[in-house]
Amino acid sequence: MDDVIELKTKVQEKIKLYGLRPTRARTRIGMILLDKPKHLSAEQVHEKLKQKGYSISKATVYNTLNAFAEYGIVNEVTVDPSRTYYDSTTTPHHHFFNIDTGQLQDIASDDMNVENIPRLPDNTQIQDLEIVVKISNK
Ligand SMILES: [Zn+2]
Repeated sequence: MDDVIELKTKVQEKIKLYGLRPTRARTRIGMILLDKPKHLSAEQVHEKLKQKGYSISKATVYNTLNAFAEYGIVNEVTVDPSRTYYDSTTTPHHHFFNIDTGQLQDIASDDMNVENIPRLPDNTQIQDLEIVVKISNK
């Protein structure tokens, strides 16, 4: 089967599997983000859509990525309040973030252990524990 058609089918199946309707915009955005393990910001997704000649508004890109994150299709990684990345790998893992290049990179879960977690406030449980290690070029 043609790779593009195959990817389109896979993306649409995935969107449906997670309970969303595979609209044209969701499918196009999914084809950019979900083809392999990657991290992209909303701006980067918007830019790639433009390069492919698709005119999808920034608002639609943001709304779609938020919906993808809400439904568990992608993982949202907030590096700082102004920078959020969308991660096609949804199993828990940690990241390096290079503040000089803006690149987000996976840390294999076996390569990092988190110990000595402080006592949690009463009546709470850990929901998520993903660490972003910020690095810079020497
Ligand atoms: Zn990642």
